Amino acid sequence: MPLPLGHTAIGLALYEGATNRSAFEDWKTPLAAAVLANLPDIDVFLGLLWAWNGSAFHRGPTHSLLFALGAAFLYARAAHRWRGLPRIGCGAAFLLVASHVAADAALSSSGVSWFWPLATFFSQGSTGWGEVTRMALKSSPLDGVLAFAAALFLALRRGLLLWRTARVPAATRDERRR
Ligand SMILES: [Zn+2]
Repeated sequence: MPLPLGHTAIGLALYEGATNRSAFEDWKTPLAAAVLANLPDIDVFLGLLWAWNGSAFHRGPTHSLLFALGAAFLYARAAHRWRGLPRIGCGAAFLLVASHVAADAALSSSGVSWFWPLATFFSQGSTGWGEVTRMALKSSPLDGVLAFAAALFLALRRGLLLWRTARVPAATRDERRR
């Protein structure tokens, strides 16, 4: 199962790929993208606060399409209203939140609740504060692979853009600018 680093890596790569904008234009954009890409796991904290068990509501409603749509809509509205928030549109915010659910579904054995409220799969077991903290801070080999793949994708994409820009003769660029 990907941990925060893995979800963040997938989210940043997806954000750049889908929007054609750099996720590192400023310090706030990667931070907001990381929060959105990890948002579904807020259910772990709700479980810890409510039942002292991080698994109590894990992979339920917050790991659904409906949650991804709602969270994306609310974020886009908030970013429109408060200029301090990075401008991440509704579609990109949806991709970031949904990428978390897709990665959980694809890279771990237990299910997610894509179609909640029609079908709900809560994760099993009991996870206390200590274990959740350890999991949030550590990274698994899978996270390392995901982070490496995302960094490679972003570097190749940058390289390709630079190469394309360099190939256009300066005269053509001046003409296009006119
Ligand atoms: Zn999750």
